[in-house]
Amino acid sequence: VDLAPGRLEELLARYVADGPRYTSYPSAPVWTERYDAEAFRADLAAREGTEGEALSLYVHVPFCRSLCHFCACNRVVTRRPELPARYLETIAREIELVREALDGAPRTTQLHWGGGTPTHLEPEQIRRLHRALGETFPTEPGAELSIEADPRVTGEAHLEALRECGFRRLSLGVQDFDPRVQRAIHRLQPVQQTASLGERARRLGFESVGFDLIYGLPFQTEASFAATLDTVVALAPDRIALYGYAHVTWVAPQQRGFERHDLPDPPTRLRLFALALERLLRAGYVHVGLDHFARPADALARALRERTLRRNFMGYTTQAGVRLLGVGPSAISELPTAYAQSARDLEAWEAAVRAGRLATFRGHRLGPDDRRRRFAIARLMCHGELAADEYRAEFGSEVARDLASARPALAAQAADGLVRLEEDGSVRVTELGQLFLRNVAMAFDAYLPEQQRSGRRVFSRTV
Ligand code: SF4
Repeated sequence: VDLAPGRLEELLARYVADGPRYTSYPSAPVWTERYDAEAFRADLAAREGTEGEALSLYVHVPFCRSLCHFCACNRVVTRRPELPARYLETIAREIELVREALDGAPRTTQLHWGGGTPTHLEPEQIRRLHRALGETFPTEPGAELSIEADPRVTGEAHLEALRECGFRRLSLGVQDFDPRVQRAIHRLQPVQQTASLGERARRLGFESVGFDLIYGLPFQTEASFAATLDTVVALAPDRIALYGYAHVTWVAPQQRGFERHDLPDPPTRLRLFALALERLLRAGYVHVGLDHFARPADALARALRERTLRRNFMGYTTQAGVRLLGVGPSAISELPTAYAQSARDLEAWEAAVRAGRLATFRGHRLGPDDRRRRFAIARLMCHGELAADEYRAEFGSEVARDLASARPALAAQAADGLVRLEEDGSVRVTELGQLFLRNVAMAFDAYLPEQQRSGRRVFSRTV
């Protein structure tokens, strides 16, 4: 994108704001504790709006060996072996509880383990957890099994156990290869450690090895990040998730230390992202959306072409229309009618499950207006457009009329060149608008004005 001098700063002044990442709509801060385990149980039993019986399962393994200072994930830093041992017993029980609440004979077509650090578990514990899942939710032949791995704690025996269980996709936490940045974020991870784990995984038959990177970290400069990107391109991962660092000290107080360091300002952040975009496109990757890149033959790039891409709290994934069930502390489930999240605290989650209850601590049942806006936001986030005919096919009505409240904000964005508004009510995000995608989606968020008025900080910056 070519911009006149000063134009970028002008746009940033207008659009840098706090806003959701829209891995769900409504965003999680809207969910309440009024939606409890009984509400979730009722929604699990109803099969309204599900396409067949397909399920996507998410397993949250919360343990990590040490704390990375940028991290706002739900994790328990521990080296005590009894915690994972107890967790395995509890999660086996939770899997049964969820299965009992579900109607029908679901088929698992997608399974993902995230964390925390799933490979904090010993290889034998990985096999055990996988057995517990498989006995209750058998996976379909050809199901997609993927897992997040930290190269600092993942050995050959882990990889072998994972392949034995049928995992074919691995995403490696990398963040940045620059030693100075790594020291600042408290995550020392030599290039060789990442490279050799990737090589061994491919040798063992993993079909896809991805990297997770972060831009906007302390001490990152365009020159340092260009060097990281050169190394990434040379190591040729199949997928790249390039997340913007979220400075959310009210969730992750350890991030406060960064304020003394050199956190890149919004214009630098945007330049870091633009640099990555340019390098990765030049290296042959497809920009799948917001923060994800994939090789053209990868399932994510295919889902983008075939318009079956889905955005959920794991980021971008394939298989739109499938029910997502999460197990483990803090895990989120997404049904056509509702969102539900389990207790984030390990002990609270354990106590609920051991008492024979679903561990839901908050959620949200979607009303008709929520569903329309969820559709609009998901289309924009996944495909950079909201097509009036697709909206009509889904809801039998006109997007321009149903979601008219978005028009004033969209008109301003159109004047700034971020979107094109068409006569039939379709909205198309421009190349420039891709850099402000969260802002475009925010035009459709009915809850945001109230959240902004309350003055309480709950979201990271949009740019
Ligand atoms: S970044 Fe990963 S390994 Fe580091 S603390 Fe967070 S969840 Fe744990």
